[in-house]
Amino acid sequence: MIENSHDYLESKTIKELIASALQVRTHSYCPYSGFAVGAALAITTGKTYSSGTHGTKEVADCSVEGAANHAEATGSITIYTGCNIENSAFSPSVCAERVAIFKAISEGCDPASFRAIAIVGGKNDKKTCSSHSQNKCNRSEGTSCATASTEAAFIIIDGSVPDFCPPCGVCRQVMSEFCDPDRFMIILARNTDEYKIFTLRDLMPESFGL
Ligand SMILES: [Zn+2]
Repeated sequence: MIENSHDYLESKTIKELIASALQVRTHSYCPYSGFAVGAALAITTGKTYSSGTHGTKEVADCSVEGAANHAEATGSITIYTGCNIENSAFSPSVCAERVAIFKAISEGCDPASFRAIAIVGGKNDKKTCSSHSQNKCNRSEGTSCATASTEAAFIIIDGSVPDFCPPCGVCRQVMSEFCDPDRFMIILARNTDEYKIFTLRDLMPESFGL
């Protein structure tokens, strides 16, 4: 676990990442588990970091064309967010962390610029919508519900979660493909004030790689 996160990322940036993860969590599509997860990936520019199995390389400016549609620029940090998206066939479901990482990769970001990911997840704030009756809708309160009338709502509140939500093994493997095991920060948070930080190596020791 990283004791002094300020050596790696400013606490203001960490809080911003967590807030982004909490916000995107409200978009989670999780009618089957009711377990909503949000992730926010921080990408830095202009620095040199090693990058997972790809070795060390210089990082160029990662502000790619079209990224504004998917990312929020915050000074030298760009944030790519993702939420979990479930499927009735189950296996096509995808985790929030991979959505964020793949979004960044697909936008042309150099994985050597991946610095941290904040993850929030939990079921606590799922409430039954007063206007619906089945647990098929996950829209935030106040937004229109596509499954109105007989359907029902998960109301995922952008605020906090009851416990820390570590990434699954598949997501750890994906991170190990792209991220420096000793510098990439995995931020597990309950809210913007309660969080703990691990390196990828902490959570994925002796990882597989070709
Ligand atoms: Zn996962």
